Amino acid sequence: MTVDIKDLLAGKTSELKLDFTFRPELGPEPPVALAGVVFPGDAHASGRIAGPAGCLRLTLSVTVPWQGECARCLSPVSDTLEFGMERTVAEKGTLSNEEEIADYSDEYLIAERGMLDLTPSLSDAIICGFPEKVLCSPDCPGLCPVCGKPLAEGDCGCKKDTHDPRWDVLRTMRFPDEEPGENQ
Ligand SMILES: [Zn+2]
Ligand SMILES: [Zn+2]
Repeated sequence: MTVDIKDLLAGKTSELKLDFTFRPELGPEPPVALAGVVFPGDAHASGRIAGPAGCLRLTLSVTVPWQGECARCLSPVSDTLEFGMERTVAEKGTLSNEEEIADYSDEYLIAERGMLDLTPSLSDAIICGFPEKVLCSPDCPGLCPVCGKPLAEGDCGCKKDTHDPRWDVLRTMRFPDEEPGENQ
């Protein structure tokens, strides 16, 4: 998404309203936690760029519908990510070097010849806005380690006490006639 802000930079107007849809992207190397996330539809952004020419400020409200898989029980999860985005907007060459290096950062958006590309910042903000782990619910109990049934659907009746950590203390116990070495 590229926005023409020439009139704002020239001081011909002090506000540009924004209202657009876009295809959400996670960039070429999405975080592992978001590997299964897909976007079934367009994302929506609305807001404005406003201020005097030397001090332009972007404010956007973004909604991104997404679908994924619960990291514990693999059931499908769909939700809408909502976040706000605020950046100072400046034309390339009007900031100090350090500030320009912060291009696509949390603070600055740099326009080139009056054209402002919002896509990289939107992708970054989408990645940052996701939860660390996609879960169907915060307390999802996951799958039965024996039969694979989602435990949220109720007890499957499997005997799970072979993996019960409460028995671990017995495994570390020593008996007088036991050969040393096995569990050390
Ligand atoms: Zn789950
Ligand atoms: Zn089971």
